[in-house]
Amino acid sequence: MAEALVQVAPQVYLYPADDTPDRVQPNVGVLVAGGKTVLIDAGNSPRHARRVALALDAIQANPPTYVIYTHSHWDHVFGGQAYGAPAIAHEQCRRTLMEMASRPWSNLYIQEEIQRNPARETTLRAMQKAVEEWRHFRILVPEITLSKRMHVFLDGLTLDIEHVGGAHAADSVVVRVPEARVIFVSDCYYPPPMHLRKPEDGLDKAMIDSLLDDAYDVYIDGHGKPRTRDEFAALAENERMQMNGSR
Ligand SMILES: [Zn+2]
Repeated sequence: MAEALVQVAPQVYLYPADDTPDRVQPNVGVLVAGGKTVLIDAGNSPRHARRVALALDAIQANPPTYVIYTHSHWDHVFGGQAYGAPAIAHEQCRRTLMEMASRPWSNLYIQEEIQRNPARETTLRAMQKAVEEWRHFRILVPEITLSKRMHVFLDGLTLDIEHVGGAHAADSVVVRVPEARVIFVSDCYYPPPMHLRKPEDGLDKAMIDSLLDDAYDVYIDGHGKPRTRDEFAALAENERMQMNGSR
């Protein structure tokens, strides 16, 4: 299990995802500048968030001032309540989470949801495993939203948040940190979530191409290891080769 922050650039860290498949943990990005801390994604549960908070303590970073949600999928937002900080996200992410927050989260509710929607069983079981205890669970709905783009200025770091949407989640944003030459792309180029995925759905090559930019050296996605720009570009190339090979 990952316990420590990994530094990916000056002032930029990652609490890396545990890649055990049924854990469905996302990467949590950590930006530390001028005594402030901003997180990119919240983790998949209050328990995950508490581990992130311990890792912040270990580098003497302050508790977060903001948490940026890259999109509304549960594994990126269910830890949000644990930090005591407001969340920033796309306006559609807020609408989705308002709706999700109104549901009666409990083990019983999860069981009923599985009955209503068997295609979501894997996801719902993963939620149940991640959260464990629903009694004090609540979804932290974003207090601050953007429609297309916004900037957050820390001492010496700019966070350039842009809505990119895409097939994986219509409310996806990417976060560029130009001074650190790092871009957080999260899941925006992934295929649609499992229960909505068709056999022909692959990585979003046009999205990958649109995010390639000489100004960024480190590409951090929602669940994998950080990549160089060339490695990120290669994802689209491999996808194109696979598609040609399968015809
Ligand atoms: Zn996602």
